[in-house]
Amino acid sequence: MSTETYDGELSLGSTSSSKSRTSETFWCSCDRCVCLPTESECICCHEVPQAHHIVDKFSPVPDNNDCDYQQKCVTFHQDFDAHLNAGVLDTYFRSHSNNWRRFPKPKGPGGTLINAQYRLVAYRFILDWLLQGEMLGRKKRIPLPACIVNVIRTKYPADDGEYVGFKYADLPTV
Ligand SMILES: [Zn+2]
Ligand SMILES: [Zn+2]
Repeated sequence: MSTETYDGELSLGSTSSSKSRTSETFWCSCDRCVCLPTESECICCHEVPQAHHIVDKFSPVPDNNDCDYQQKCVTFHQDFDAHLNAGVLDTYFRSHSNNWRRFPKPKGPGGTLINAQYRLVAYRFILDWLLQGEMLGRKKRIPLPACIVNVIRTKYPADDGEYVGFKYADLPTV
């Protein structure tokens, strides 16, 4: 399994396969990922060690064909959706309000957040969830799995369908 051979960095394009990660989802084991514009964004939750503790919590339920456990995607975890709640994200944004770099203030009408802000806050909040208190140094940045990015973009879509790739540079300083 790809999760067992993951060594902390992607060896993109170095295999015998000439397939591109941006055009096919052969790299996805959770069945929930989509192709994103750049190869570094095309990574499955099964390829990110920090997501393993969540993926591993899914235990098989024999003879239940309706259960999604076989796909074992972090986005199916019972706590995942709670981290995308608009009210929760709003509170999280305001608790870091001095530090959001690209969007320091709510940009929506009446002091609300716009979808671009919800997406950015959700990326950060989900990272916190994956990390479970582990501190990320500058050299130890983890990619956000494409399955997670896709769910966040579906919930908080861009009007023009144009998305800025997830960048650590946009996140607040801690
Ligand atoms: Zn996947
Ligand atoms: Zn996944």
